[in-house]
This record gives sequence, C-alpha cells and structure tokens, in this order.
Amino acid sequence: MIPRSSKVILRAAERIGAPIRRIVLTHAHGDHIGSLDALVAELPDAEVLMSARDARLLRKDRSLDPDEPQVKIRGSLPGARTTPSRSIAPGEQIGSLEVIDGVGHTPGQIALLDTRDRTLICADTYSTLGGVATAARPNPRFPAMAVATWHRPTALTTARARPRAPGARTRQDRRCARPGDGRGDRARILRGGPLVAAREV
Ligand SMILES: [Zn+2]
Repeated sequence: MIPRSSKVILRAAERIGAPIRRIVLTHAHGDHIGSLDALVAELPDAEVLMSARDARLLRKDRSLDPDEPQVKIRGSLPGARTTPSRSIAPGEQIGSLEVIDGVGHTPGQIALLDTRDRTLICADTYSTLGGVATAARPNPRFPAMAVATWHRPTALTTARARPRAPGARTRQDRRCARPGDGRGDRARILRGGPLVAAREV
C-alpha cells in the first residue's frame, strides 16, 4: 500500500464489488502503510489489523525488546496517525486467511496463508523481479528488499519454521538462527501440505 494509492485501491474494490471491511497490514514499512491514513479516512468503519510488535513501529517507536537481536530496524518507517483496531498474532484466522509468523524482515511481520488453496500472501519475503530471491538471500539485481530487512538470520529461521498451534512458537525458536546459515534452503510453509503459490504484496 504505497503512498497515494488509496483512490486506486478504492476503485479496484468497487470494480470487483467487494467493499473493504478490513485492512490487514503485514508490516510497518512505508511502502506498505503509505496510504493507510487516507484509506481509513474514506473507510471509517473498516477494521485495521496488525501485529502488536509492528504497531509500535506505526507509532514511530523504534525501540528493541531486550530479547530481540540488538540490530537497528531498517527501511522506511514513517509511521501513521491511524491506530490499529486490534492486534493479530500467528495462528489467528481472519476469514479464510491464517496469520503466519513472518518475523525477520521487521520484528513483527506477519504473512497470510489462504486456507482455501494454500496460497501464501507475504510481503517483502520473496521477490521475483530479476529472479527469485528472499529477504534472507538477496538478489543483487534487486537488493532493496534485503537492504530493508531488519535481521536476516531471523528471517531465515522464520521461513524454515513449521507453524504450530497458536501461541506454541516462542521467541526462542526464532533466536536460534546463526548468521550465515541456511545455504541451499528455500523459504517454505509445511503445515498440512504443499504451498501452492507465494504472492508478494
Ligand atoms: Zn518491507
């Protein structure tokens, strides 16, 4: 949701006859929350959902928790005036979408798994411009996604993890990453069958 895209989003929703009832934010980078305030102004009844951790970034609080990697959070973090209606966490269901842990690109990133066809909707986790790349393993022809990634070892550990029951995954699970590991790995979601497709948003 890049800045100045609210009109385009509203027109697209109108065109397909799907009124916007919820706005789910994957993370707080500026190119993903850039039109949030303008969209909320047009859609005052829409629910705004986001992880509690990245909601702090939306408030321009860039502090780190003691148990997080003490690495500066990267990327554009302009914040927004909007306060999320409520926070969401891995394991929750939003309609047909299951919230998946996506921590690493930012400290509170989430992805969404469409349980109808197992399409994974993720932001800045994969890119296909100039070849497939992940946030943890950049493509030198399109490095922006990796450059804006907070902690690549954590991103890689998250991508490898098998999601468990809601709340079962601990921060320690994510802290076990070692810098530079992961050669030959591909980001994947394993629960319940193969990942059908990954869609970057
Ligand atoms: Zn991002």
